[in-house]
Amino acid sequence: MTIDARPLASSLLTPAGLQSAAAELRAQSPDEILAWTLRAFPGRTAVTVSFGGPGVALAYMASRIEPSTPIVFLDTGFLFPETYALRDEFVRRYGINLVEYKPLSDPGPLYETDTDGCCAIRKVEPMQRALGDFDAWVSGVRRDQGPTRANTDVVEHHVIDGRPLAKVYPLAYWSRGQIWSYLLDNGIPYNPLLDQGYSSIGCWPCTRATRAGEDERAGRWAGTGKTECGLHTFTSIERSTPTGGAT
Ligand code: SF4
Repeated sequence: MTIDARPLASSLLTPAGLQSAAAELRAQSPDEILAWTLRAFPGRTAVTVSFGGPGVALAYMASRIEPSTPIVFLDTGFLFPETYALRDEFVRRYGINLVEYKPLSDPGPLYETDTDGCCAIRKVEPMQRALGDFDAWVSGVRRDQGPTRANTDVVEHHVIDGRPLAKVYPLAYWSRGQIWSYLLDNGIPYNPLLDQGYSSIGCWPCTRATRAGEDERAGRWAGTGKTECGLHTFTSIERSTPTGGAT
């Protein structure tokens, strides 16, 4: 089934509009959810890909549906060489429209004393800058990645700097096993560190391999209590109420 993405952005970009869309899209495949987003917000959709985890599937899907789709890549300056190499491989192999954002300043090894401050400079501010050009933000968050992501929906209405933003998670209901099957079935390259005990890959100072039985993201900021870099918490979600208002 294909859901009609019209009427487009203006009426969709409301809590009620996106909740209604989510109710229909939940049963659809990630490719269909991504295609719907690109139709609903033409030229106004960004897909973020870190080239760390299996979320690279989104870059492949976007290249097949609409090759001009901006693939936003945040270069913190502290990524693994394998991550940069995979980014370059996707550009070569799939011709993705890579758009890179970097920090405005270099705080040095701030991660040693203040990981939140470091992530704010190296990740959150560049992402906020990137989103200035878009109404829809597609990312690879999945519900099975850990407790902080367990309630993720396929489409959510968020607010950033007082304006509406559609956050789209085409992989939300896929398991790690499903996404691996997709990568392998389609011969899609992935970060080789995933074969070396790493299950979630960010900046090298803050990433370690995971152990058997640990959550997928347990190797990120291990031992610090920090679980998210802030990329997925600087926007606030709004839901519609039964009377049509928003909370
Ligand atoms: S993950 Fe670590 S190195 Fe990367 S921005 Fe955050 S604190 Fe800094």
